[in-house]
Amino acid sequence: MHRSTTLNLLLRTCPAALDMYDAHVPYDREVYQYGVAAHAVMEAIVKQPDHDPAELAESVVRELVTNGRSFYGHAEPPMDVHAATDGRDVALGWLARDFDGIDPRWQAETMLSVDRNWNPCEHRNAWLHAIIDVTGPCTYEDEEMAVEGVLHRDWKGSWVTSADDLHTLQLKIQTCLVAANNPDAAFIRRQVTNLRTGQTFSEDLWMDDEGRETLAQWRRDIAHVCAQAEAVGPDGRRVARPGPRCGGCPYVLTCSDATQGLPMGWTCDRDEYTDIVQLARYYAIIDAMRTEMAKTLRHATKEAPIIVDGGEVGYQARVTRVATDDAPEALALAWFKPDNWSQWQRENEETLGLLAAAKLGAGQIKAIGMVLFPGRGDSAIAEFKEMRADLEDATLTEKTGAVFGVTKGK
Ligand code: SF4
Repeated sequence: MHRSTTLNLLLRTCPAALDMYDAHVPYDREVYQYGVAAHAVMEAIVKQPDHDPAELAESVVRELVTNGRSFYGHAEPPMDVHAATDGRDVALGWLARDFDGIDPRWQAETMLSVDRNWNPCEHRNAWLHAIIDVTGPCTYEDEEMAVEGVLHRDWKGSWVTSADDLHTLQLKIQTCLVAANNPDAAFIRRQVTNLRTGQTFSEDLWMDDEGRETLAQWRRDIAHVCAQAEAVGPDGRRVARPGPRCGGCPYVLTCSDATQGLPMGWTCDRDEYTDIVQLARYYAIIDAMRTEMAKTLRHATKEAPIIVDGGEVGYQARVTRVATDDAPEALALAWFKPDNWSQWQRENEETLGLLAAAKLGAGQIKAIGMVLFPGRGDSAIAEFKEMRADLEDATLTEKTGAVFGVTKGK
């Protein structure tokens, strides 16, 4: 059986990732947990519209951090408290912002399944299946008519959710499943809601000739992805494509195809490092692994760096120069050289506002100094060098921050 989530994984990574998903290979789920919590809170609120949302949210958090959730019958471990409370805040934040609120006719977490012929069927016989965050009735109204349709909405916890999410495979699968289960619907209202910003992106797909052809095309596209998910080699495994697709793959640290793609047996043969396609593949895999390792190590070294032979991995204090609060005015004074500074300030508030909003960094301030007082190296006029230094002193200050990385021992 295919699920919208696993097909999405295939499209983001490669078919071999599904082998690992099916084998329940563990991976770091921390990054997804707040989204899981936000969905659980929204589910409770949609299912019980007469209850106080804040109270419902707290009871969901308590359940998640003590018992964990159950996903398709698999019990998951209790959730990190921060992730659960972050998810709660995201969900309640949306509710406080949304003017339309929750329609009591909505249904939460509807499980929809179809067989290979796109006929609705029971979950155990399903060829394709998805859980839809919200389904329910909706109305199209204009001056001439009012028509009832079917809504499906997807909650998204990501900041970057936009109208583009209406065109993802995941949403197309949901629409096809909703259409199969509502064959008489006049239209399907497709929505994604960005819980962070409160925006809902919406599009009505009318079940006229054009809409039906759109659905038919989506079904053909989905069938191709399902076929790729079903294709296995003589060894019974799905094909692996180690390379750029490993970036963001949750299995990159446990995937033997990715590690076998690495230059472990590097022979220093000139062909190896002049084959730029192979080199690019190595680079992509190593980059993906490095990113995944950094997630764990950032967490593990919050208190102190880890000492390894000849150096450390973790956070180090780094002093950088940043603009002072007075920098916009000091730069304007040096650049415009007004005769009457007080009067200039009064008449040019917008220019000062623009400079402050630009949040100039040390690089830009130094570049401005080079334009005002040009000259490098020995040829620079000593007076100009001094004036540049004075400008930097007036506009930059030192700030200590923490930078994660590798430090070599001395
Ligand atoms: S790590 Fe790379 S090769 Fe392995 S499953 Fe993920 S995308 Fe495929």
